[in-house]
Amino acid sequence: MKCEKCGSDTRMQVQVTLSAPGSAYHQLTKKDFHRKEFQVLGANWETANFICTNPDCCHVSDGYGNYVTKLEKKNKELSAEVERLKAKYEGTNLS
Ligand SMILES: [Zn+2]
Repeated sequence: MKCEKCGSDTRMQVQVTLSAPGSAYHQLTKKDFHRKEFQVLGANWETANFICTNPDCCHVSDGYGNYVTKLEKKNKELSAEVERLKAKYEGTNLS
């Protein structure tokens, strides 16, 4: 991916899903990533940030922020729908 502002190369930062021993919780080191018990299973591409490598630009396309904003928006929509349905079926036996 090239920088959307200046066309230079970019570096990407993306969240990954890691399979690891439970004992490693809050205890990850860089060396752990070379052990066979630690496996990267996949990447959450929607969270990728692309950082321009041109020092005069340094533009960041904020994939992670957009991802969080989309989740917040969807959460609000679903919460509103739950409230609407609760009001609609209030008094009926749907539990
Ligand atoms: Zn750039």
